Amino acid sequence: MIGAVHTIVGAAVGTLTASKPRAFLVGVLSHLITDAVPHKDCSPAAEVSLLGAALSGIAAWKGVDSPEFWGAVGGIIPDVEHGLAFTRLMSAQRKVFPTHVGNGKYHGRKTRDRWSQLIVTAASILVLIASDRRRS
Ligand SMILES: [Zn+2]
Repeated sequence: MIGAVHTIVGAAVGTLTASKPRAFLVGVLSHLITDAVPHKDCSPAAEVSLLGAALSGIAAWKGVDSPEFWGAVGGIIPDVEHGLAFTRLMSAQRKVFPTHVGNGKYHGRKTRDRWSQLIVTAASILVLIASDRRRS
């Protein structure tokens, strides 16, 4: 899944908690589910750009001291090992996150379209908007 989508989904599940540590944990768990959805990834340069925009947007919208931000961090943190492997700071064989190991055994199949990611992103943004309305 595109890193920005992991981040937005993590923020959405994080908003369902009242605690930053729980938000981080459910963000990490959301990574398992979103990786399992069939999807198409972007180039590394596009991934980093979109991720920066998503994380900055969540920080600006909800604040860095919010469950949403920490859910977003939890949502993307498993993919740090992709970055470490890509930059050759770590061997790809040393990855440990369940959806990243075993030749993609638990990873969603690669597909040509991005609809799954657009739908997941839209649903997550709606959850974040609804959480704003619930609190006001
Ligand atoms: Zn992943």
